[in-house]
This record gives sequence, C-alpha cells and structure tokens, in this order.
Amino acid sequence: MNTYTVNAFGTASPKADLKQINIQRREPTAKDVEIDILFCGVCHSDLHTARNDWGGTIYPAVPGHEIVGRVTRTGAEVSRFKKGDLVAVGCLVDSCRTCDSCKQDFEQYCLTGFTGTYNGKDKHLNGHTFGGYSEKVVVDEHFVLKVPENLDPAAVAPVLCAGITTWSPLKHWNAGPGKKVGVIGLGGLGHMAIKLAKGLGAEVTLFSRTPGKTSDAKELGAHDVIISTDDQQMKSVRGKFDLIIDTVPNIHDVNPYIGTLNISGTIVLVGYLGPLDPMLNTVPMIMGRKSVAGSLIGGIAETQELLDFCGEKNIVSDIEMINIQDINTAYERMIKSDVRYRFVIDMSSLKN
Ligand code: NAP
Ligand code: ZN
Ligand code: ZN
Repeated sequence: MNTYTVNAFGTASPKADLKQINIQRREPTAKDVEIDILFCGVCHSDLHTARNDWGGTIYPAVPGHEIVGRVTRTGAEVSRFKKGDLVAVGCLVDSCRTCDSCKQDFEQYCLTGFTGTYNGKDKHLNGHTFGGYSEKVVVDEHFVLKVPENLDPAAVAPVLCAGITTWSPLKHWNAGPGKKVGVIGLGGLGHMAIKLAKGLGAEVTLFSRTPGKTSDAKELGAHDVIISTDDQQMKSVRGKFDLIIDTVPNIHDVNPYIGTLNISGTIVLVGYLGPLDPMLNTVPMIMGRKSVAGSLIGGIAETQELLDFCGEKNIVSDIEMINIQDINTAYERMIKSDVRYRFVIDMSSLKN
C-alpha cells in the first residue's frame, strides 16, 4: 500500500518527552477521507498512553483523539464528505462493522475489538495507529464526523472524547428534566459532563476535591458543589442522585458515593481503569438496589448526535490553546489538575 510521510509529535518510551517525529499515512483508498488537522484536544488518556500507565503502549506513540480539521482529499467511493468540509475524528478509526455490537452502532464495543485512533492495530499498514498530534490523518468515511459550522472549531475538539464519554452514559441512564445527576472531578470529562447534563435539562451537582473550582462549576451549569473530602457535605447529599458520572483518573474509594445515590441509582465509572481499592461494599448497593457501572466513549452515530446537539445548544469545551511544543508542560499541568478545563493544540504550530 502506498504511503506518504507527515510530521507528528510522539514519544519513543514511557519516560521520554514527546518530540517531533515523522510517521507514515496511507494514500487514501476509495472509502477514505484525508483530513488536514487544525486542532487536537489533549485527553488524560493521551498521557496514560504516552507513559504506558495501562501497559500495552507501542512506541513510538503519537497520541491525540480529539481531532478537528478540513477535508483535503476523498476516495472515489466517499459520498458524505467533500474537500473543504469541517470534520472531526474521535477515539475510533475502525471496527469490524459486522458483529452484533457494530450492527447496533456500538463500534466502541466491537466484539472483535475496535481500532483506536492511536495505539490500535492498523489494518491497512499492519503497524499501529498514530493519533491526532500530526499534520494529517486518513480515515474511513464511516468514522468521520460532521462538525456544525456555527461552533468554534478549536473548542469543539474535546467533544470528540471528553464530550462523548460523558454523553453516552447520560443518555443511556436517561439524564433529563426531573433527574439529579452528580459529576465527580472537574477536569476535561467533568466539565463537559456538567454542560451536557445541564443541556439535557437535569439538575447537576459537582463533587470535587478542590474548593477553588466552585464558582467555575456554577458558571458551567452546576446547581451545587460538594467538596468530597468534607464528611458533613457528603452527608448532606445522602440518597440524592439518580445518576453519578465518576471521571476520577486514579484509584480512589467509590464507596462514599454509593450512599449519595437514590434508590435504583447508578454510578458510572468512566475515569479509572482497573481493580478498585478499597473494594466495593455490596451492603449499601443491596439495601437500595443501586448499580455500579462502567462506560466506554460512544459509537459513531451517537457521537454525531452529540455534535448536532452541541451545534443546536451552542455547547463547546472551555479550552486553553497551546502550541505542540508545549505538550510536555501541558501533561505535567494536567496531572496537577491545573487546566481550565481542556488543553487544545493549535496544530499549525507543528508546521512551523
Ligand atoms: P483530567 O482533565 O485530568 O480531570 C480529572 C479530574 O479528576 C481532575 O480535574 C480532578 O478534579 C479529579 N481528580 C484527579 N485526581 C484525583 C484523585 N486522585 N482523586 C480524586 N479526584 C481526582 O482528566 P480527563 O481527561 O477528564 O480524564 C479523566 C479520566 O477518564 C482519565 O483516566 C482518562 O483516561 C479517562 N477516560 C476514559 C474514557 C472512557 O471511555 N471511559 C474516555 C476518556 C477518558 P477535582 O480537582 O475537581 O477533584
Ligand atoms: Zn480521550
Ligand atoms: Zn464489530
């Protein structure tokens, strides 16, 4: 298969800084769209992958799965896109398209395994996939999304991961008018969860460790803020929530939040991957028919539905724009929760 070289930013090992490298992209096939990347959001998963926090990172690693750009070329069979269109690519670039999950538009739960935008098995070039910290990307049109032209193209980028990861459980567990939703952690995912739950008509409460974020949370649409380290405040919301979205990226005690769920309430873990410590106590779950669940990003149709919803409601992320050369500092700041509330890379900085 023919390929061409593009500039990218990636890392050669878990401990190395990201720096400029060259990668190969395939020449677009009949079904492919080639995209000139304008902006790429910086997700905490980028950092987990670059540093091999989850194991399984293949190097060199080029992160980035909140991609917004313009179409530069289309293959002969591409019907939904043309040169110049404002488009996006999120966390998925391929799946089998034939299994039960794919047929139900749950490509993220593909029974044969989806292809991630980075660190996935590249079915075309046989290596691994490289993400959006790069000049261009070539993607099957099924996995390309239309971006409403009324939205700021930089600020819409985080919708592609932070947005869809919180939208999918909000929709699945019926967040809407009359429902009380809690969000744990005010970072990239958390701030989108607040905006989207509020946009769906739910009453939203933020759980945060950080008192300094209270006024921001209220501006983002939270009705209330509970400081999770304050036992009195935690007691004040016992039995309150129909749904809680937990975005905390590190190991933490989930048990105190179970007590804040209403009967039949559900807490959905989207942030931390791995065994919990301390373990879950089933008693408060059994005594209130409560559920602990997990959720992974969202399917392509659902992501388009979200982008359209954001277009109608004028919802985008609150971002701090950076140049690609600042990515290593941005990662350090993200670990300290020192970002309000998503870094987005201006990819024109890569070409200079
Ligand atoms: P982020 O911007 O760093 O935000 C995480 C927030 O969690 C922080 O702002 C902080 O909020 C809180 N927090 C951080 N460390 C904590 C700790 N030790 N204990 C309690 N709270 C803590 O990260 P993000 O980009 O939103 O991503 C969050 C997690 O979701 C990451 O692990 C990422 O890999 C994962 N993720 C999962 C999916 C999925 O499909 N399930 C998709 C995307 C990302 P406060 O200061 O308010 O407490
Ligand atoms: Zn992500
Ligand atoms: Zn499948």
